[in-house]
Amino acid sequence: MKKDYILKINHLKKSFGQHEVLKDIDLDIENGEVLTIIGSSGSGKSTLLRCLNLLEEPTSGQIIYQQQNILDPNFDRIQYRAKVGMVFQQFNLFNNLNVLDNCIVAQTTVLKKDRDSAKKAALKQLERVGMAPYVKAKPAQLSGGQKQRVAIARSLAMSPDLILFDEPTSALDPEMVDGILDIMKDLAHTGLTMILVTHEMGFARDVSDHVVFMDNGVIAEKGTAEKIFGEPENPRTQEFLKRYL
Ligand code: ADP
Ligand code: MG
Repeated sequence: MKKDYILKINHLKKSFGQHEVLKDIDLDIENGEVLTIIGSSGSGKSTLLRCLNLLEEPTSGQIIYQQQNILDPNFDRIQYRAKVGMVFQQFNLFNNLNVLDNCIVAQTTVLKKDRDSAKKAALKQLERVGMAPYVKAKPAQLSGGQKQRVAIARSLAMSPDLILFDEPTSALDPEMVDGILDIMKDLAHTGLTMILVTHEMGFARDVSDHVVFMDNGVIAEKGTAEKIFGEPENPRTQEFLKRYL
């Protein structure tokens, strides 16, 4: 059967000044898959995710979504961003808005939904992540784990085609981590396409279809989770994974 790709990344490069941070990245993401990116700090993982949702402007290359290069000048970036959710290490909630409004605002402004249907979608997702009792709370009143639940609900309320997760549990107290990983595991099982950067290797091994090891701006190795965690070929991958044994 022919594979169905949600994104195709061709020769993607990104430099900051003289510093080339992404060096000719080629990567295809299948519809419905969970792809995990691992690698040392500074290897370019966040920059890659940020290029995929255009928080960073790539220096060159192509990112193909629905037969269109999203880097073309006439591509509709606003609608694209609405379809690609992002969950950050530092949550990035709107601190002046309560939990419910955090999950409503992009639906009404970007998707042009009326407030009632936006509220309905928000409540549905807040319920799913266990945050329905907190709709009136402001982010400052919540724990890190609760903030991340809200951030996930906010993303889901947009009915995204794809969600990017950049170290979603790295800023959490240890006792909060498993709750977030459980939510992500459930999402993976619903068939949502997910690209995630994480250092939770046990989780990555469980949930990922494919794993990419990034090293100094290149994809040093890509394979199934069993392959990368079970019998990695590249010595750099082997060296990196040793730290997590
Ligand atoms: P990772 O997420 O794998 O830790 P990053 O993508 O955050 O790596 O960073 C890769 C490299 O790019 C690092 O050397 C970092 O300092 C550099 N970098 C990231 N963002 C910027 C920026 N906005 N300006 C300049 N350099 C940056
Ligand atoms: Mg990072």
